[in-house]
Formats: sequence, C-alpha cells, structure tokens
Amino acid sequence: MHETLPRQLLSREETAWVNPCRLSADAANTLCDLILPETEIRAAEERLLRFAPYLRQVFPETAEYNGLIESPLREIPVMRRKLCDHAIIPGRLFLKMDSHLPIAGSVKARGGIYEVLKHAEDLALQAGLLSCTDDYTRLTGLRDFFGRYTIQVGSTGNLGLSIGIMGAALGFRVKVHMSADARPWKKDLLRSHGVEVLEYADTYSHAVAAGRKLSDADPMSYFVDDEKSTDLFLGYAAAAARLQIQLTDAGITVDREHPLLVYIPAGVGGAPGGITYGLKRLFGDNVHCFFAEPVTCPSVLLGMATRKHEALQVQDYGFTGKTEADGLACPSPSGFVTRIMTPMLSGIFTTADRNLYEYLRLLYKTEGIEIEPSACAGFTGVKNLLRHGETVKYCVANGLTEPVLKNAVHIVWATGGNLVPADIRKIYRVTYL
Ligand SMILES: *Cc1c(COP(=O)(O)O)cnc(C)c1O
Repeated sequence: MHETLPRQLLSREETAWVNPCRLSADAANTLCDLILPETEIRAAEERLLRFAPYLRQVFPETAEYNGLIESPLREIPVMRRKLCDHAIIPGRLFLKMDSHLPIAGSVKARGGIYEVLKHAEDLALQAGLLSCTDDYTRLTGLRDFFGRYTIQVGSTGNLGLSIGIMGAALGFRVKVHMSADARPWKKDLLRSHGVEVLEYADTYSHAVAAGRKLSDADPMSYFVDDEKSTDLFLGYAAAAARLQIQLTDAGITVDREHPLLVYIPAGVGGAPGGITYGLKRLFGDNVHCFFAEPVTCPSVLLGMATRKHEALQVQDYGFTGKTEADGLACPSPSGFVTRIMTPMLSGIFTTADRNLYEYLRLLYKTEGIEIEPSACAGFTGVKNLLRHGETVKYCVANGLTEPVLKNAVHIVWATGGNLVPADIRKIYRVTYL
C-alpha cells in the first residue's frame, strides 16, 4: 500500500494529493444522493430556520443573521498579495470567517449545534411538548425537561465547545471527553458553562471511544459521534446554500469561466466533507474542493488514498499524529466521510505546523483578522496550488489555466478562533518566530 502514497507525504514534507476517483459532479451527486439525499440537506436548512427565533433570543449575537448561525465572507486582497513571496495568486481571495461564527467561534457551530438542536427537537416532539409549527422560543421553558437528559461527546476542543455551550443553554447535562491535544482554555471555558469535562491522556479516537461506551451504557444519554454522525454532516452541508447567497450578494458568478476553489481544514473530515457535499450540489463541476491537513496527521488523505477509510491510524504509516493544529489532530478519519467524498473531492494539501503560524501572523498583519492555528490550514492550498506538481496537473486537466484562473474565486475556510483568549492570541503570534 505504501508505494501508492507520495514520497513527500511519507517524509512529512508539504505536498498535495489529487483524488483519482473523482467523478463528474453529475455522476457524483446522483451516486451520493442514494446515501444522503438532497432532501435531507433541505430538511436541515429548514430545521435551522425553525430554531432561529429561539437562537436569536438566547444568543443575541445571532441577531445579525436573524437567528441563523452564520459568518461573513470577506475578501482579503492584501493577504492575497503577500501570501506568495514571488508570484501573485491568480483570481480573488476570500476568507469564509467561520472562525467568527456566533456561540462557539468555530465551524463546529454549524454541525455540532445542529445536532444538539435536532436532538432537542426530537425529544420535545416525542414528549408532546413541541410541534414543528410552534414558535421555538417556547423551548426556553423546557430546561427542566432537557435537564433529565445527558449529551456526551469526544472532542479535541471545538466540538466540545459547540455541543457544551448549546447543550447547556438548552438545559441538558453535558459531558465532554477531551483528548490530550485539547487546549486548557477550552476546558476552562466549558466548565464555566457548567459542562463536565473528562480528560484523557490519549488521542482523539480514544476519547471518542471512551465517551461512546459511557453514553451507550446510559439510556438517558445521547452520544454525538463525530466519526459516524450524519446529523453533524448535514449541519455542515447547510452552509453551502448560505454561501451561495453571499456570493450572489457580492456580485460573484460561479460558472465554467469563473470557477470557485475552496480550501477547508480537515480533522476527521466531517466539517469539510459536509461543506463540500453541499457545495458540489449547488455548483457542480465549477467548484473545486480541497481539504488541508497537518503533515504529521494526514488521516483523511491516508483513508482515501489507501481506501482503508476508518480502518487506519496515521501512526500505522509512521506519522506521529501530533500537531499544533489541535482541531485537526484526529488519527483516524471518519469512514462515512472518506467514502462519500470519494467521487467528489478534488484533493488534499498537507501543511507544516510552522507555516500555520506564518499564515496566522500574516493574516493578522495584512487584514487584522485573528484565527487559530488549525483554521489557517486552508492557506496552504491557495498558496501551493500552482507549486505542487500534482495540483498543477489537476488545474491543466480541469481547465483551471489562464485566462480562466484569473477569474477564479478562492475561498479559504477559516474554521475557528474567535473564542481564543487574548493572552493565548499573543502567544500564537510569536510561536515559531
Ligand atoms: C473540527 C475542526 C476542523 C475540522 O473538522 P472535522 O469535522 O474534524 O474534519 C477544522 N478546523 C477547526 C478549527 C476545527 O475545530
């Protein structure tokens, strides 16, 4: 199996892998519709609309988007000019600022919060305490009811924050099983919300397994399973239609002559996978989705390239799995995601930790935007698209050459950072200097 993997990958140099199994968007969407139908994405979008009045009331910071958990799409032209030392990136560069999503300050505010809301709705509907046509602000009166139930989740940090903050707001008891990679400030913040944090001196996969086992033993407990959940995935997929509106509002068309290239950091793959799933349905072959992973923990890349999916750990291939990008420190990928991405993902870039901090500093200096290290991984894609041989070939094969590339819109998906305390931000800005 090893010989099918790029040498640079195995020697932990930055590289790019292009997915040889990608199909035309039509074929991919038709195939995947059998696994997770489009109607389910619509249902997720509608569910989030039902909850909007409730969220608006309980989290006033969602008022800007009328109770939807949404983030700005911002053009970052100065960063574009400074990102590559010599060359200028052809096309426009945007940052999708999920780093600044309300409530949880990371992309997990899409998937994680969606799954908690869905669970709460299911329970309340079953108990006859809610109907889908109600004004959902009435959920504020059901805290005692939800307090009889527990939600548990394994997390490297951000998923725990989204599940914990949302779950606690609804009234649930929440237990978050944190891997050794989790940053202490994330644990402290959760505890301040009344969430129980259980700490493990082991990897993410281990924390998930421990949480799953404890939850399964308790009939009143629900486990948010990052490695398997389709609800999380749907919460992420709902981002696509919102992005489409933002692009339209910005006067941006996406078509053959104006391609969209999206670069999203991947841990187990759920967040980038769900977003990609939604985007491929809306933009078809005109959107090119790439993931980004640490050179020391490329679990989704390995899962897809070897087709072993979830049946591997990065350590099996000599990787440490250790990275400063705590949000991406997942030694095994989600097999659900690696399978459903097989016909649609364009490829995966890997990045060295050191460069994450370079991007973090540069974004702060050029645009005044602060995000966390994991959230910077997407920059490796736009920076190296035309530097790695594999992706250059991809561009040529897919009509991404001049003059089309000059019309391209690149979106780097910033996946977290807004909750990082000020003293830690300062440390980030001088790390690896
Ligand atoms: C969770 C997370 C990701 C990746 O999401 P997965 O679903 O694990 O692939 C990326 N960036 C940040 C900051 C995250 O917290």
